[in-house]
Amino acid sequence: MFDAMIVTKDDEGKTSAALTQISVDDLPEGEVLVAVEYTTVNYKDGLCMSPGGGGLVRNYPHVPGIDFSGTVEASSDARYKAGDKVVLTGWRVGEAHWGGYAQKARVKADWLVPLPAGIDARQAMAVGTAGFTSMLSVMALEDHGIKSGPVLVTGAAGGVGSVAVAILAALGHEVAGVTGRPETADYLKSLGATQIVAREEINETVKRPLEGETWGGCIDAVGGAMLARVLGQMQYGASVAAVGLAGGAGLPATVIPFLLRGVNLLGIDSVMQPYDNRLRAWERIAKDLPMDKLESMIVPAKMSDLPKLTADILTGQVKGRVVVDVN
Ligand code: NDP
Repeated sequence: MFDAMIVTKDDEGKTSAALTQISVDDLPEGEVLVAVEYTTVNYKDGLCMSPGGGGLVRNYPHVPGIDFSGTVEASSDARYKAGDKVVLTGWRVGEAHWGGYAQKARVKADWLVPLPAGIDARQAMAVGTAGFTSMLSVMALEDHGIKSGPVLVTGAAGGVGSVAVAILAALGHEVAGVTGRPETADYLKSLGATQIVAREEINETVKRPLEGETWGGCIDAVGGAMLARVLGQMQYGASVAAVGLAGGAGLPATVIPFLLRGVNLLGIDSVMQPYDNRLRAWERIAKDLPMDKLESMIVPAKMSDLPKLTADILTGQVKGRVVVDVN
């Protein structure tokens, strides 16, 4: 028997989460049984733990947790054997399939990535989907060319933003972080940001489709009015990686920045990312994300903290990266 955070739905459709003891036989089918060591808290985990499962959870009872890292306990797939260290992000695990908010998980071998040398299970969850997506964004910007001048990171004090700031700064880019929490300025500077932009300064509806050419690239975790505004502030030919919607799913923009400045808007999806690119991203994380900076982002937690933390992330109250030791 082992601990799992089980979300159940009652006859009136009300959902509730509780730490419960279950057995390996209760786990869904899959080729690889993993002894989970760490998991984390993402915006999507907040939705999956919220009443109604945020429209993401299909069936109850459900085990949330869109990411986990741990050690293979048994595998019927030749790619993995007992003792291998693995990480899982995406593939709708924790949404449509049981996830990492448990001491064991059984999943498809295709969904796993072997942990690269230089990063352990705890660090992998400090990175998590958020940091993995930050690296996918950096790679997408690099593929299209990062211009000189500051690279803007929006939602900078959040999970995606924090890791993006640290990676970009470590790669030698000047980094400007947009935050609505001025008290996080020292934290963002410690990660490598050289400029802090107040959220109100850049969160307004577009008045002029083009403003001064300011940013050499952008990783945007916010969307909405902020993304629309940023598009008009990009340098000629620069790119914006659109990652998130913390500020809204709309895009009240004009096409003028695309037509007159050749600005690129690059969509970033971490969930269905092909295996080769996943591997490349995790290897780049092990190489280019300074582990001391990652350490300073970590908020340690236990499984019993998950109800509060998953509620907090929905209101933008989580700073940096939560690492949950499930044991
Ligand atoms: P966090 O909650 O940790 O960070 C989001 C940050 O956005 C907050 O910390 C805050 O930063 C800022 N923010 C919050 N609300 C608003 C608002 N109303 N207006 C402007 N800024 C706001 O979440 P994550 O970093 O984990 O994820 C960020 C986004 O990326 C989410 O929307 C998430 O769903 C998405 N995402 C997408 C992925 C993909 O595959 N495309 C993968 C992972 C995440 P500050 O306090 O500094 O202002």
